[in-house]
Amino acid sequence: MRFGMRTCPVRLLVIHPGVENMPVTSPIQAPPARVSPAPVETLYQFNESPLLARQSRQESNARSYPRRIPLALKRAKGLYVEDVEGRTFIDCLAGAGTLALGHNHPVVIEAIQQVLADELPLHTLDLTTPVKDRFVQDLFGLLPAALAAEAKIQFCGPTGTDAVEAALKLVRTATGRSTVLSFQGGYHGMSQGALSLMGSLGPKKPLGALLSNGVQFMPYPYDYRCPFGLGGAEGIKANLHYLENLLNDPEAGVQLPAAVIVEVVQGEGGVIPADLDWLRGLRRITEQAGVALIVDEIQSGFGRTGKMFAFEHAGIIPDVVVLSKAIGGSLPLAVVVYRDWLDTWLPGAHAGTFRGNQMAMAAGSAVMRYLVEHNVSAHAAAMGERLSEHLHILQRDFAELGDIRGRGLMLGVELVDPTGKPDALGHPPVHARLAPRLQRECLKRGLILELGGRQGGVVRFLPPLIITAAEIDRVAEIFRRALEAAVAEA
Ligand code: PLP
Repeated sequence: MRFGMRTCPVRLLVIHPGVENMPVTSPIQAPPARVSPAPVETLYQFNESPLLARQSRQESNARSYPRRIPLALKRAKGLYVEDVEGRTFIDCLAGAGTLALGHNHPVVIEAIQQVLADELPLHTLDLTTPVKDRFVQDLFGLLPAALAAEAKIQFCGPTGTDAVEAALKLVRTATGRSTVLSFQGGYHGMSQGALSLMGSLGPKKPLGALLSNGVQFMPYPYDYRCPFGLGGAEGIKANLHYLENLLNDPEAGVQLPAAVIVEVVQGEGGVIPADLDWLRGLRRITEQAGVALIVDEIQSGFGRTGKMFAFEHAGIIPDVVVLSKAIGGSLPLAVVVYRDWLDTWLPGAHAGTFRGNQMAMAAGSAVMRYLVEHNVSAHAAAMGERLSEHLHILQRDFAELGDIRGRGLMLGVELVDPTGKPDALGHPPVHARLAPRLQRECLKRGLILELGGRQGGVVRFLPPLIITAAEIDRVAEIFRRALEAAVAEA
């Protein structure tokens, strides 16, 4: 493992080879109340390289990540990526949550190599193959028994967005209804239909009227900024009451929808976990109203939240589950799994050329098997708890860490301006200026993090699920130093 053995030139960023198997034994100790001064550290500088300059000259103005993560990457292994200048970074973005087992995991590489060695057809439209059959059995094997027993699967074009589009067609065809309820802060992809479901107005505004306008937005149970100004159990109760009333009041002004689509933990919206009682209430209300419940597990699925699927925390069974990202083991793949009562659409209702990527299916099977064999969900839960503890300890010294939240290794910190005017719940306003500064200070210290949420004020942690306890501690230490620097500059 040549790359894993490399060290980078700064003291803070030495990578310890062999930490992969370190047991999680030592409980996290609270550091002294005052933050000690950071030792001298060398910081990466980001001067525009010819490669990056060419990228910004030639690639579209719509490019996004390179603007805040100006790296040209050369190599990657596990948690780490190396850029063309030989600098190493801890990747807590991991393909926006795609890389459950990190970069180039041996089981993924082996699965891909086997497909090539066996001269399997790489492209099969939606014809079946032994690889595809195994993939379906592996996936159905992960589903809760009640869902697996009546599950159907549709292979989609290779993006999460396309699977969301398929789910919309599926429920609209089966129910004969055309509208959908979505949630404020929700993110379901970038095509016109999926965009119609999006909470954020940024990408929608320039388009004017969207093609699909049959979407009603509902308040999400965002406890820290409770849309009802209540918070806690009262906020959840009000939220469910509002929803139930909307679906049942003949004067509500809203037609009965085909479906409700929800992220169990909103990712791009700012890492907001839905209350579990609220999810159970949502399931009860939709079931009673005969409305399909679509759970978008594109980001939260496959162990990320500490369970194989995030909806399992609430013990509910959705009607439709949309899956992508980790399911392809780093390669593009997306599917919709649904209960068979919905299977009324006609042959060809959701076609697409690239639905038969055999390498992605083989890699996805390898990932699914690894997740089960190594109980990665439980590991992700433990590592998430460890990181969350670190962040809560930091919060004692930094009032800017307003809300620390998430599930498993889908964690976020909402940055706030403690000097700003508090909202109805007494929480200071989001600190939108601090977030990019903090992100940059992390990057200078070799840590890649992403932002999300309202005004981009939430720092998001989405590391590979195989991250070790030692690596979590290291991420937390870098984050602390970066935070000191960013706050000092603010
Ligand atoms: N749904 C959720 C919850 C997502 O997080 C994403 C992407 O981040 C999507 C849908 C869209 O997936 P894709 O970018 O593969 O189209």
